[in-house]
Amino acid sequence: KAPSYHATPPSLTPRSCGILSRVKGMRGRLFVMTGASGVGKGTVRAKVLERTRLFYSISMTTRPPRPGEVDGVDYYFVDRPTFEALVREDGFLEYAEYVGHLYGTPRAPVERALSRGEDVLLEIEVQGALQVKRAVPEAVLIFLLPPSLSELKRRLVYRGKDSPEKIQKRLEQAEWEIRNAHLFDYVVVNDVLEEAVADFLAILTAERRRSGRMGEALEMALRRDLALEAELDEILRRRYGGTGH
Ligand code: 5GP
Repeated sequence: KAPSYHATPPSLTPRSCGILSRVKGMRGRLFVMTGASGVGKGTVRAKVLERTRLFYSISMTTRPPRPGEVDGVDYYFVDRPTFEALVREDGFLEYAEYVGHLYGTPRAPVERALSRGEDVLLEIEVQGALQVKRAVPEAVLIFLLPPSLSELKRRLVYRGKDSPEKIQKRLEQAEWEIRNAHLFDYVVVNDVLEEAVADFLAILTAERRRSGRMGEALEMALRRDLALEAELDEILRRRYGGTGH
């Protein structure tokens, strides 16, 4: 007797169909890397972007470019009136004043990438990250932590960019942020760079494997190869006799 097959297994009930139908036209996810000045966000970000597919949101700033920085690559460098006009048009997903300059995430490119289904990465300071969480509760916030405040101080001193007063201010700010780490979804310690990058990538992978986002793999897993199964049933029939059921 020929074995009978279910093209659609009986277990594919409307309830389990739900997860598949939600996947069609799925939006990308918003990942926000944040942390204290000097903790190494830019370095970790560059390594992460080399190793996984993410749309990196280029920020707008009123800070003048540093040597080697390119407009439209590192930032969109604009003057204050231009920035403020975009604020009035509600053109920023978030923005913040930081050490005398305005920094913001232009809303439109992020929105377009998410609707195309691309995952987006922002690398911004903490106040901005908390604004994003309020506006987009499903955003994933990853807080980059220095091994210690003293180590952060060491990095700021050797970076040579800041006066003693500024370093003191940044350390106080960093201490406040560390005490509020529960506001973020994940904490990554940037002690050994490669380990921090690996942790960051592991978080991206875990978030991408959430069952609600695995529709394509689930659809594949439910496919039946009738020819293969007929062969397997034939093996079972030879081994045990009967139909293999
Ligand atoms: P820098 O002037 O050193 O490039 O950046 C200063 C700080 O501004 C860094 O902590 C950086 O992460 C943050 N930053 C860069 N772009 C944005 C942005 O679009 N929004 C906010 N809130 N912070 C930003």
